Amino acid sequence: MHKSDFDLDYQNQNIESKIIAAFERIAQAFRVLLWQESKVSGLSPIQIQILIFIRHHDAEKCKVSYLANEFNMTKATISDAIKVLEEKELISKVVEKNDIRSYVIKLTNKGKTITNRTALFTTEIRNPIDKLSTNDKTGLLLNLLDIIKHLNQTGVITVQRMCLTCSHHQNTKKQTHFCKLLNQQLLVNDLRVDCPEHQLQTV
Ligand code: SF4
Repeated sequence: MHKSDFDLDYQNQNIESKIIAAFERIAQAFRVLLWQESKVSGLSPIQIQILIFIRHHDAEKCKVSYLANEFNMTKATISDAIKVLEEKELISKVVEKNDIRSYVIKLTNKGKTITNRTALFTTEIRNPIDKLSTNDKTGLLLNLLDIIKHLNQTGVITVQRMCLTCSHHQNTKKQTHFCKLLNQQLLVNDLRVDCPEHQLQTV
């Protein structure tokens, strides 16, 4: 068994440990940027994340149980966040016809305006990525997708909607990718991290 990736003597001799330490810094950057946006908007980080998620996903995914799974939180925590967002008139609830206990969460116009601004909290992470060469970007994306796939298969990340875990995805002989649903070859930069048509592979 190898030593801790955070043991500096070990880390400085191992590129794998340095990569893990770098991921940790980037995860910290997401938290810091989200907190900064939180102070500006007067919303908690999870409230901001819920607004952004609802803005970009279809109604089926905009329900308390789906959001709880998506953010690895309890339904009670998500319901509390939804209650505050409703009081602030950023979202509304649309009760489902076939089950009055269930509702879909929708953004109000005020909610859309706030979300469009808060969703830009990642700008400082995006800036250096913009400067990478096309080859570096495709290599980085492919490697990140492989890491996420592993984390999904080992149960660390529960929700996945990316090509590499989709039943419509096929690896062709030349290690290129194909989507059977769209009936088209996918280049690396066509591979999706969050696809509305994703169907989870059954192993
Ligand atoms: S349906 Fe979407 S996630 Fe699945 S392979 Fe096609 S593009 Fe990728």
